Amino acid sequence: MAKQNNLPRVVIIGGGVIGLYSAYYLQQNGYQITIVEKTDGSDGCSYGNAGMIVPSHFIPLAVPGMIEKGIRWMFNAESPFYVKPRLNWDLLTWGLKFYQAANNKQVSKAMPALRDISLLSKKLYQTFASETGFDFAFAEKGLMMLCKTQHSFDEEASVAETANKLGIEAKVLSVPELHQLEPEIKPDVAGAVYYPGDAHLYPNILIKNLKDLLQKSGVSFLNDTEITGFDINGNTISSIRTQTGNTIAVEELVIATGSWSPILARQLNINLPMQAGKGYSTTYQQVAGKQLNIPSILLEARVAITPMAENLIRFGGTMEISGINSHINMNRVRGIIKAVPAFFPDYPIEVPAQDKVWYGLRPCSPDGLPYIGRTQKYKNLIIASGHAMMGLSLAPATGKLVQEIITQQQPSIDISLYDPERYD
Ligand SMILES: Cc1cc2nc3c(=O)[nH]c(=O)nc-3n(C[C@H](O)[C@H](O)[C@H](O)COP(=O)(O)OP(=O)(O)OC[C@H]3O[C@@H](n4cnc5c(N)ncnc54)[C@H](O)[C@@H]3O)c2cc1C
Repeated sequence: MAKQNNLPRVVIIGGGVIGLYSAYYLQQNGYQITIVEKTDGSDGCSYGNAGMIVPSHFIPLAVPGMIEKGIRWMFNAESPFYVKPRLNWDLLTWGLKFYQAANNKQVSKAMPALRDISLLSKKLYQTFASETGFDFAFAEKGLMMLCKTQHSFDEEASVAETANKLGIEAKVLSVPELHQLEPEIKPDVAGAVYYPGDAHLYPNILIKNLKDLLQKSGVSFLNDTEITGFDINGNTISSIRTQTGNTIAVEELVIATGSWSPILARQLNINLPMQAGKGYSTTYQQVAGKQLNIPSILLEARVAITPMAENLIRFGGTMEISGINSHINMNRVRGIIKAVPAFFPDYPIEVPAQDKVWYGLRPCSPDGLPYIGRTQKYKNLIIASGHAMMGLSLAPATGKLVQEIITQQQPSIDISLYDPERYD
């Protein structure tokens, strides 16, 4: 492939939403880009997710009390959280780091960092939607946190107070106020918190159209190409090696391989603690007369429900830390579906057949912050990964930051807490 300008050629490993948005902003700056993807690029975590753009999610998963709650959930086969107990060094050290992050001091540091990247990303989605001209069903309708019990409503109301203090608008809604916003489906709950600044989109269409756009702008895609090794020259990665033994020369390299990132990082002697958090979704047609307008999270069940384009509705949830595998645990899927009638009593929904269940592996860092930045060890390596349950939300901001790092511009926000070598 001929180089068209003097800018370094960028190779991005990973064709998920993070790799694609990194390519988008880099190609806008005149870079020649190759995206290397080990699958045929037609599925993965960036496709079947809940499609929510969530500045409301400014609190990391690792908070005080989370471990105790997680342990209780582990004894319920249909609960929203599960860690498969196993003697695995990566899991044990990840768990320890999660524990170390789950305190008020760390959470207070993480919250503004998550807010800043979320708000930047939301703004970039707005610009992207107005500039690119393609429809990916981007809708700014907000997000409802539906609370079944008074106890979780009280807790959520105090989260809303923190959100407002941080500059993220949150409204505590009484049941009549909620029913005005959802007149057809009328949730049966104690109350709700509404985040008007959240948004949603149809991820399957976004990824497809973004790839088309990138291809038309000259970005090369090498699908079915797994990277299995690196050639190092001093503190520079000179080339990457594929599973068939080919080498690809690199000048700037971005690792955006989601849950697989620690496998590549390990080969480069970089400690990138991460666990794959498996989640499931299933998508139906909306039910006539019971349309959901606004995306919602069934709080106690941790189930996300998103109305999508083409009159679809997607139900997603669970966080199953069971390693990298494609096993579908139907108990967990049942847990998602069984939660629905508790919140929407007369909503007709059945457990889907296994072949209608989608799964994805969320790349979870222990402290809930992504890894974004150039490494000290290799001067031409940038890591962009670890976005857990917010990769879709944070993708434009991450792509923009990757571009700013490579173009040596001042990053749009402070990236020090996202340092990919923070656990080294
Ligand atoms: C049920 C569910 C619901 C979710 N809902 C939301 C939501 O509402 N909002 C939100 O923001 N996020 C959501 N997420 C999370 C979001 O989907 C992820 O954070 C995001 O997709 C991660 O993107 P990524 O590009 O980092 O990783 P991926 O999409 O996993 O992409 C990484 C790519 O790298 C490739 N790869 C790996 N190793 C190699 C290698 N060695 N060589 C070449 N290629 C390689 C993989 O094949 C993969 O395609 C949800 C996730 C799940 C499971």
